[in-house]
Amino acid sequence: DGASTVLELRGVHAAYGAVEVLHGVSLTLRAGEVLALIGANGAGKSTICGVVTGGVPVTRGTVRLGGQDVTGLPPHRRVRSGAFLIPEGRGIFPALTVDENLSLWLPSTDDRDAAYRRFAVLGRRRGQLAGSLSGGEQQMLALAPALVKPPAVLIVDEPSLGLAPLVVAEVYGALEELRATGTAILLVEEKAHDVVALADTIAFMAVGRVAWAARTADVDADLLVHSYLGIS
Ligand code: ATP
Repeated sequence: DGASTVLELRGVHAAYGAVEVLHGVSLTLRAGEVLALIGANGAGKSTICGVVTGGVPVTRGTVRLGGQDVTGLPPHRRVRSGAFLIPEGRGIFPALTVDENLSLWLPSTDDRDAAYRRFAVLGRRRGQLAGSLSGGEQQMLALAPALVKPPAVLIVDEPSLGLAPLVVAEVYGALEELRATGTAILLVEEKAHDVVALADTIAFMAVGRVAWAARTADVDADLLVHSYLGIS
């Protein structure tokens, strides 16, 4: 389809100390594409996020971001490659206000104003401590910098965790909007049927490997949801 590859993992192995938890993972993500990584607790999904951003070292294989081999680069040297991570738990600072949290990513007032226009609820709560926001508002706070300044690749680990279905729909709407700007999204979810509608490709992880991957259009969504995503 011609869109450029923005993220590529090739034969990636990773370990915590002596314990290897990724055993040769290969993935490709193109501009404007959404790849959903699904699979049980402990399968290695969060570890893949760490491998992409540099928090978890790779013991074998390569990671390429925007055409550059970043395998050995520390996290701060990957920011320029355009990878932005929203970790599990959202990565916001609960003891800072909404505005202070946004300032870390959006130092310019104009950019923060843009965030408040996109997420009016954040504007109303800009002086409030982030830790006192609802789960959905916290996820919006985590997403806002990416929507104002779209990264090449957004990595988002379990954005729907603990959120009500209506709020999940709002979060996924924001991700859809971001994708439309050309941002590629690596989306990690354990069990949310929402990924079926958003993702172009779904990769199912089991014990440190991609057990299978398929274009969403080629899979039976109902069967997938009932078989793998824990919806009954
Ligand atoms: P979850 O949804 O529970 O986060 P996951 O698929 O994201 O699951 P990972 O968090 O990547 O899985 O964990 C993969 C394996 O690595 C697990 O066996 C886990 O116990 C182990 N692991 C994760 N982080 C560490 C760490 N910091 N030190 C040691 N082992 C770890």
